[in-house]
Amino acid sequence: MQKFAVFGNPIDHSISPKLHNMAILKLNLDAFYGRILLQNGENLKETFLKLGLNAANITLPFKLDAFKICDFLDEAAKNIGSVNTIVLKDKKFHGYNTDALGFYKAILEFGEIKKALILGAGGTTMAMSYILAKNGVKFDILNRSEKSQNFKAENFYTYESFCENFGLNFKNLDKISSQNFKISDYDLIINSTSAGLKDENLPAPKEILDMILPNAKFAFDAIYGKITPFLALAKKHNLKTKDGLEMLVNQAVLAFNLFYDNKFSEAEISKFMHEAENLK
Ligand code: NDP
Repeated sequence: MQKFAVFGNPIDHSISPKLHNMAILKLNLDAFYGRILLQNGENLKETFLKLGLNAANITLPFKLDAFKICDFLDEAAKNIGSVNTIVLKDKKFHGYNTDALGFYKAILEFGEIKKALILGAGGTTMAMSYILAKNGVKFDILNRSEKSQNFKAENFYTYESFCENFGLNFKNLDKISSQNFKISDYDLIINSTSAGLKDENLPAPKEILDMILPNAKFAFDAIYGKITPFLALAKKHNLKTKDGLEMLVNQAVLAFNLFYDNKFSEAEISKFMHEAENLK
């Protein structure tokens, strides 16, 4: 029997076991996928080996720990600096990052995207940046604080520098009517912050969002399972919207196929995993 698991902390919310076990069941495979609550990322390798796993997914906050224990890395993992999928082959740890492609496949269906704005500058933004740049999509990043990483963005803005770039004073934004001032640079606005996950916060000041959303076409939120304040605002501005569920399922499909050496069709795995999701 093949043994797989997802490592994280917290982990009880993870729907990965449901997705993978449904694919295992439908494909009639001799395998099982569990979830492991890990206290310390330093124990990842030892726990993986002790449990006799063949492969695993890694979620927050251990993607960097996973990156560090791998003997081989795929191009995406190397560039992004984090690993969400590990496969043990010939006693060597092979590390992959399927978040990036999972995200890109999810936004492809929107239509043509010439320029995007990513809100947030954490680990998920690193994955999004890599895949947008790789596919020639221009993008800027807007984050509440400065960051030192190189995101391959055309521009990295804080709220203050973003306003300055568009000839606005951040401190007087409430006095500017968003009806009269609209920023038209972006087709797609992405929420890659955790604002809206466990609270009702917007990922950037409403005054800024009210200036950029009216001229954009699409809004994507990495958060799934709820209509976040960001998606609600985007809908109010008549944008086509999508939450993070498809990104999550896509990364699971890609990971599952890595577990099995790309033996199965992505479309088939995806169909089975979506059936599992419908059980929710
Ligand atoms: P990180 O902790 O690495 O980064 C969080 C980012 O959000 C930082 O840029 C942080 O700003 C910003 N932020 C947090 N709170 C606020 C707020 N109230 N207002 C404005 N900005 C805020 O998180 P990740 O990049 O790992 O995850 C980001 C989101 O993506 C999460 O909601 C996560 O659930 C989701 N996700 C979805 C996946 C999917 O498959 N659908 C996969 C992975 C993640 P600062 O830098 O100033 O602290």
